[in-house]
Amino acid sequence: MYGLVEKPRPVAAGGVSMPELPEVETTARFLRPHLSGRAIVGVRALDYPPLVAPYSREGFAAALLGGRVRDLGRRGKHLLLFLEDGRVLAIHLGMSGRLLLFPRETPPDRHTHAVLDLDDGNALHFGDPRKFGRMRLLSAEEYAALDRRLGPEPLSPTFTVQVLAQRLQARSQARLKALLLDQRILAGLGNIYADEALFRAGLHPFRPAGSLTPEDVGRLHQAIREVLEEAIAAEGTTLPDRAFRFGTGTDGRFAVRLQVYGRAGRPCPRCGTTLRRERLAGRSTCFCPRCQKGAFEEDEPKRKSKSCGQRTPVVVK
Ligand SMILES: [Zn+2]
Repeated sequence: MYGLVEKPRPVAAGGVSMPELPEVETTARFLRPHLSGRAIVGVRALDYPPLVAPYSREGFAAALLGGRVRDLGRRGKHLLLFLEDGRVLAIHLGMSGRLLLFPRETPPDRHTHAVLDLDDGNALHFGDPRKFGRMRLLSAEEYAALDRRLGPEPLSPTFTVQVLAQRLQARSQARLKALLLDQRILAGLGNIYADEALFRAGLHPFRPAGSLTPEDVGRLHQAIREVLEEAIAAEGTTLPDRAFRFGTGTDGRFAVRLQVYGRAGRPCPRCGTTLRRERLAGRSTCFCPRCQKGAFEEDEPKRKSKSCGQRTPVVVK
């Protein structure tokens, strides 16, 4: 239909929750008061070696033991434990990772692949049924290199409309959705919030990034920030697979506010047109073919303008 749909790869289909910026931010905010100042007095249950590579399990445990957490943070989809000695434990939740806090005597369940015992009697459990998560113990220099590889933080004051426009223009031939998923372009967005932001902005996911007008970029910038801020306020998205939980097992509440993600085949909440699902950059992409314009217009039947209830007027140039 669009000609550029990539060969399907075995990745998650729509409706599967994967932690993105709001879920990692929610987890960091919950854990910060519980972990800040705490020493790591035990490292156990490391039953999946790739989780801590390139360290061996023994080497990782020895290197982390005795470390004291100075503060928590987040960069993109990485949750960061800043240690007092300058090292950083960067935790990527992968597709199904979650960090839960329990009393130390609570036994780890079968999906727990790391337990960090804290000096206050609690323990941090890293659970990850699909095993794509990673815990990387980095020197300050290694963390700086990771920070440089990642694009800007979308909620940072320095992430302006101009910055977004520059990032899109630098890869003007790329499909818009593929760029939004590229962590080097923008850090923290994944499939859920990229789809939601594009719907809110009324932009077609297959549209070449260089084709956006300044008004389009302004709407996209606003939509990205709005959807992320609302999702953080709702403590993230927990879908029926319940992959994402935080704290001691709390669900995020944003799922009920998803407008397109995981809703292919159902009516668009804005215009009633059946929402479509296509593959793009190996991922499932949900969108409204009527509200989200701009890609391969010649393939679409001609439609009257003002037919789709955009929230803001679109300037067509
Ligand atoms: Zn629509």
